Amino acid sequence: MKVSPAVFSFPMPIAKVPKTMDTVKARITILAENTAKQPKLLAEHGLAYWIEYAGHHILFDTGQGYVLEHNAAELGIPLSQVEAVLLSHGHYDHTGGLGQVLCGERLVTVYAHPAAFQPKFARRSDVRPIGIPPSAAQAVRRSNVVVCPVTEPTQIAPGVMATGPIPRTSEMEKSNPRFFLDETCETIDPLEDEQALFFTTPKGVVILLGCAHAGVINTVRYVEKLLPDQSIYGLIGGTHLVEASQEQIQWTVNELKNREMRMLAPAHCTGIKATVALWQAFVDRCTKAYVGER
Ligand SMILES: [Zn+2]
Ligand SMILES: [Zn+2]
Repeated sequence: MKVSPAVFSFPMPIAKVPKTMDTVKARITILAENTAKQPKLLAEHGLAYWIEYAGHHILFDTGQGYVLEHNAAELGIPLSQVEAVLLSHGHYDHTGGLGQVLCGERLVTVYAHPAAFQPKFARRSDVRPIGIPPSAAQAVRRSNVVVCPVTEPTQIAPGVMATGPIPRTSEMEKSNPRFFLDETCETIDPLEDEQALFFTTPKGVVILLGCAHAGVINTVRYVEKLLPDQSIYGLIGGTHLVEASQEQIQWTVNELKNREMRMLAPAHCTGIKATVALWQAFVDRCTKAYVGER
């Protein structure tokens, strides 16, 4: 079995992290997630965040595409006003809604690591494609779309950063052995494309996770490395602990306890066991991340 050669050299280039980042007071609305708790809102296995601040409209992931437009309409979110879309990685549950946000005439920049557009497969009892759906890949080729390859920390809008590839520094957080780049399951997908979004608020740094295939603690460590003078205030999103051992879940809880983190919103691929562990460990700091939460 081959592992695709991925470059995770460390330290990564940090030239694009501004010396003083603008402080952002953003409103984040969850447009797609596995759980919906308000009337008329719909859930799916996926994730999409709508980020608004200072007149900017950014979408971080798009979900599978079954609920995005519906939930946006119900929540009064002007999806057609989007100016930038950041893709956390190339799995269908984060990219499937691209066609719905890129179909207008407005110029939209799509930020993604080039590996997000590679074919991707998952093996369980069968092998199935889990990469970017063909319709979404086609939408990215529209004339109103500019694709910006993210291979290092990149500013999407003043004060809002994409991490780019995340160095895998912990022994505990390993690549998922069920993900492949080929249908014959010979080359493991290292998910080099996985990245997070972060911004600085008056309270500290907030990190938004897609699936955290690079590891939630690896992601936190990398943002700490990029912003050494700042503390992490909050962590929102998928932690991909759904298949983690009890040992890894406890290790993750301890790593987060060691930090002055004030807000946690575990979501999507966190899984029930890890969600329970996080809520029990941070009972006064955890918050919901259902569709419609702001
Ligand atoms: Zn994924
Ligand atoms: Zn996912």
